[in-house]
Amino acid sequence: MDDRLFRTVMGKFATGVTVITTSTNDKVHGMTANAFMSVSLNPKLILISIGNHANMKKYIEESGKFTVNILSKEQQEESKYFAGQLNEKREIQFQWIEGVPILPRSIANIVCDVYDSHLAGDHTLFIGEVKDIHTEDGDPLTFYRGTYDGITS
Ligand code: FAD
Ligand code: NAD
Repeated sequence: MDDRLFRTVMGKFATGVTVITTSTNDKVHGMTANAFMSVSLNPKLILISIGNHANMKKYIEESGKFTVNILSKEQQEESKYFAGQLNEKREIQFQWIEGVPILPRSIANIVCDVYDSHLAGDHTLFIGEVKDIHTEDGDPLTFYRGTYDGITS
């Protein structure tokens, strides 16, 4: 099957947008991801899918922890930045909760320990056990057919 057809059809599934954060030896790393889902209520599990070539994969394996930061509709530029789509290096002020980095101004931060991981083709599925959640008022950033928008509640 043609890669372009696959990506075009996957792009028809409208999603929110997250930035995954993790830290190793106090160095924080962030990466944009829309492959995120809720998995289980008891225990509370979520899932992310990370490309095997992404730097994020080795950092999560090293730290055993990650945070899913759900972006607000005002954070489109941060989505592009943490996808490596802006040709610049920024000083990002992360916040810290119990030793875990979170991205400020997100509408939710889901702090996880790695519960399990599975190699799936050219990606790795990380299942996270939710350890802490913080939530803020705000409207979500959306991603559909390669284009950003936002929902106004
Ligand atoms: P890098 O390229 O190493 O980092 C990304 C950018 O963030 C770089 O510019 C880097 O300088 C900057 N950065 C990181 N940490 C810091 C810090 N502490 N301070 C300052 N700058 C920092 N890929 C997936 O594997 N799974 C997905 O679900 C997924 N969903 C995506 C959804 C969208 C909407 C988009 C646009 C892209 C998505 N991608 C996804 C692609 C992914 O975001 C990029 O391929 C990413 O660049 C690869 O991650 P990396 O860890 O190698 O990041
Ligand atoms: P696109 O048309 O390549 O992506 C459309 C959809 O296809 C995405 O929302 C995702 O569901 C799927 N997709 C894209 N690349 C994938 C990959 N390597 N593995 C698995 N699924 C993939 O372009 P776009 O939406 O403008 O994305 C911009 C960039 O971000 C591209 O380089 C794309 O590869 C990357 N991206 C990667 C993933 C991922 O790895 N899961 C998800 C979204 C975007």
